[in-house]
Amino acid sequence: MIAYLEQFVSETTTESEPKLEEEEEEEDENKILLCKQIELQGSIDFHCGACKDFGGLNQSKPLAVIKPVGTEDLVRVIRSVISSSASSSSNLTTVAARGNGHSINGQAMTDENGLVILMREINGQIDIIRRNHSCSNGDVFVDVGGGVLWEDVLLHCYYTSGLAPRSWTDYLGLTVGGTLSNAGISGQAFRYGPQTSNVTELEVVTGKGEIVTCSENQNSELFHGVLGGLGQFGIITRARIPLQPAPHMVRWIRMVYSEFDEFTNDAELLVNRAECDSFDYIEGFVFVNSDDPVNGWSSVPLGSNQLFDRSRIPKSAGPVLYCLEVALHYRNGDDLDTVDKVVSKMIGRLRFIRNLKFESDLSYVEFLLRVKEQEEEAKANGIWDNPHPWLNLLVAKKDIADFDGLVFKKILKDGIGGPMLIYPLLKSKWDTRTSVVLPEGEIFYLVALLRFQLPMVGPSVQDLITQNQEILQCCTKRGFDFKLYLPHYRSDDQWKSHFGKQWSRFVERKTKFDPMAILAPGQKIFSRNN
Ligand code: FAD
Repeated sequence: MIAYLEQFVSETTTESEPKLEEEEEEEDENKILLCKQIELQGSIDFHCGACKDFGGLNQSKPLAVIKPVGTEDLVRVIRSVISSSASSSSNLTTVAARGNGHSINGQAMTDENGLVILMREINGQIDIIRRNHSCSNGDVFVDVGGGVLWEDVLLHCYYTSGLAPRSWTDYLGLTVGGTLSNAGISGQAFRYGPQTSNVTELEVVTGKGEIVTCSENQNSELFHGVLGGLGQFGIITRARIPLQPAPHMVRWIRMVYSEFDEFTNDAELLVNRAECDSFDYIEGFVFVNSDDPVNGWSSVPLGSNQLFDRSRIPKSAGPVLYCLEVALHYRNGDDLDTVDKVVSKMIGRLRFIRNLKFESDLSYVEFLLRVKEQEEEAKANGIWDNPHPWLNLLVAKKDIADFDGLVFKKILKDGIGGPMLIYPLLKSKWDTRTSVVLPEGEIFYLVALLRFQLPMVGPSVQDLITQNQEILQCCTKRGFDFKLYLPHYRSDDQWKSHFGKQWSRFVERKTKFDPMAILAPGQKIFSRNN
């Protein structure tokens, strides 16, 4: 299974011949017809430039970009595409919902006859729902629009009710619909599962142009299909997400290891501990055993006043070191001595290098928005808008030590200019009825290679893409059990191999909910049917 990694600029960007005046007039008439045909309440922009995404590896110019005002507009758009093929009145092909465009490989794009719907333009519904008003412990949920950013969900819920969702992503500038179409993974997933395991109801506009409310008990095939469904079965317009009381504060801790097996044993020990005995957040990362200012020792401390004492690193250490990153929630007014004691007890038997432990206390909101600060810095120095050939994998526990030996210790021993995340997840916290596919076994690891590069400095984007291919080829050659997270393939065979036993279920769901293959063409799984 070798991933198809797109060329730096995709073939969709080829120059077209200049148009004759009559052709332009005819085109304008068609556009006017199209506007009438769709009867949008929102607006349609035919003069949009090419769409790009966070990856910056692809761009494509759709026929038009739609700014919808509500769910009904989505229905109108999809029905117009369906009827355009029946009447041949226009040549509309596909519809791509665009969340915040934070995909890497053009997943939210469409071709030159497709329409891109800007989901963030729909009014950002965020309503807290209390199921049982008379009971203070009644279940509480938030109903949130598919185009709403997770950071807005956090701020609204926390500041209006002191409540918050349970499962997050590391970075919250992503839309609810965008992450639920993939999985939504962060350091809470070991306990609560990914975001796809933390939603009780969805409203979806299917590829047939129908608005459907679905849940575990109502239209469950659509519900499970859409979760992790890569946008293939419907556009998520509303999600109901359970809330719980939010802590006020977080003790954020990093502990350094020189040996991979000690790092993974401790990480697995923590994710398997009972809730009352473990941290509230568990992740980890690999860094370079050197003074490299970006990839090395200085990337570990949690504040400019903390120093990394390199003399503590054992002589036997290899080219890379490992950092277990954990967090403990607490409330304002909790005795800090008690917090210290709880932490000491929990880390007492861990085998990290003593004196290579870093701590910081910060508010819960600051903790969840920790990447936003880095985003602002990265925007200022140009690395946020530069291309990001990221690679995200889910690797089975049985292969993770060999993966470390071959990939981290060899191919990536000098780092990647950004975080190299690695942490264990538990399959029992994932709902196998959703469309997400996972490696075998209860424990598997998220590996995220989040490459950042200064403009015009370091290896070319093509070299980085080649390095990603080398990693995937190495995993395939060794027979590792792994899946791409946020997958991107081009051929049927690669998609079939990705989904494995679940391919036929995925195809059946497509036939049922988007039979003409109108939705999310940028995933390149199905071709448009007439
Ligand atoms: P887009 O990129 O706009 O869309 C992604 C796909 O979903 C497209 O196919 C699109 O058509 C479809 N889609 C979008 N909205 C909808 C909708 N409402 N209904 C149905 N389909 C829809 N992921 C994690 O799991 N954990 C992380 O910690 C994490 N951190 C990240 C940090 C950064 C800086 C970036 C760039 C990405 C990160 N991701 C993370 C990956 C992220 O979850 C995915 O890229 C996700 O798709 C981005 O969401 P988006 O809203 O930008 O979606």
